Amino acid sequence: PLPDYFERTSKSLEWMKKAKEVMPGGVTANIKSFDPYPIVMEKGNGAHLTDVNGNEYIDYLLAYGALMLGHGHEKITEAITKQLHQNGTCLFGTPHELEYTFGKKIQQHYPSMELLRYTNSGTEATLLALRLAYAYTGKYKIAKFEGHYHGGYNEVLVSVSPPLNEAGEELNPNSVIESKGVPEKEAENTIILPFNELEACEAILRRHQHDLAAVMIEPVQGGFIPATEKFIKGLREITKELGILLIFDEVKTGFRVAIGGAQQLYNVKPDITALGKVIGGGFPIGIVGGREEIMLESSPRRGADVFDSSQSKKSKSKDVLFHSGTYNGHPMILAAGLATVEVLEEKIEDVFKNTAFLKQQLEQLFKRYKIGMKAIGIGSIFSVVLTNKENIRNYRDLQQTDLSLRKEIDLHLLNEGIYTKPLNRYSLSTAHGIKEIDATIKAYERVLSKVCGG
Ligand code: PMP
Repeated sequence: PLPDYFERTSKSLEWMKKAKEVMPGGVTANIKSFDPYPIVMEKGNGAHLTDVNGNEYIDYLLAYGALMLGHGHEKITEAITKQLHQNGTCLFGTPHELEYTFGKKIQQHYPSMELLRYTNSGTEATLLALRLAYAYTGKYKIAKFEGHYHGGYNEVLVSVSPPLNEAGEELNPNSVIESKGVPEKEAENTIILPFNELEACEAILRRHQHDLAAVMIEPVQGGFIPATEKFIKGLREITKELGILLIFDEVKTGFRVAIGGAQQLYNVKPDITALGKVIGGGFPIGIVGGREEIMLESSPRRGADVFDSSQSKKSKSKDVLFHSGTYNGHPMILAAGLATVEVLEEKIEDVFKNTAFLKQQLEQLFKRYKIGMKAIGIGSIFSVVLTNKENIRNYRDLQQTDLSLRKEIDLHLLNEGIYTKPLNRYSLSTAHGIKEIDATIKAYERVLSKVCGG
């Protein structure tokens, strides 16, 4: 596919050379880079992207799943324009009405979030979730799952994509530091669990129960590998019994696997939830929320009730959990988020139906070409996994699938105007209709006949 790629995307290559004068590797996040070089985009419209050469793509990246109404939805444009005109700069640094209105809307779909706080990203939401757990339990270690991503800070940059020769035993994984610049000692405070292996998890949790503040989990790994019902329900019971908080990181799954996220799908109530991505309508946001008694750890007690002298006299600085942020609850972003959720309340089932149809069509096509493939996912996200295995349950299973053929197919797909890079994660939006699905299947057919003959 390379000669075609170089020819079609010549201007991206020029741009990427220039970008290296400004940013290391020419990108602002490592994940945005891939071989031979990433495509530089210029415009987005509905389900489509246009690159700097003028090539069009059907966009399945959708900004890592964030754009569930596609690019430039009129309701979002309307909502942010109204905010801009009504409120000038749009940022007060004070309480305002949308914090309440949008918060109520979130609680309607996520009733486990009895109280919540706004942050500026999913990363900040999971980070605050951990601080709440430390504050509430008085314990300072966490457990997370091998292959699960929760953001880019030290505590969770452990065993996100560990090399298998360092990862240890499948049922008792090592804590492998993921990034240069993260101190090795972080690995001591982050215990790694095997996803979808209940008995092994229980043994590890029992061993560390007196140190563990919380277990943090992507209930659907990467947004596409589901926990089994038995596993997630079992995990809820064990953590409750051991006095360990259960944190659902629903940054990816929120409004994507069900309108009420994985917690609605499985009917499991976490202690704390982190949201992000979809709820910002394309703008930076995160929300952390949970049980009232946990969330009240972040209440500004010293000033909360000026008439309660017993409270204010008692307070020391360490009695209060620190949470701040200049842009938290930005009115323009909350307006975009509210518009997004209101549209999804009407349209989400259509997105799920279209996603299911695309998955089914793709599986049929691969069958015709006799390539083992499973379109794995729930709701509005899936991944094309090349395997003959019946069951893909976690990170290690995924490493045993044909990742190099998938990469080759993905590069061919770019030449055909289908954008799935860098992760082969298909996120759909309200803008992806039958027309886009048909075009995707036709493009796939051309690619498979090139790659596999036919
Ligand atoms: N948690 C999960 C499950 C995510 O998928 C992501 C983003 N990919 C994050 C946390 C971090 O969110 P953000 O990029 O908004 O900081």
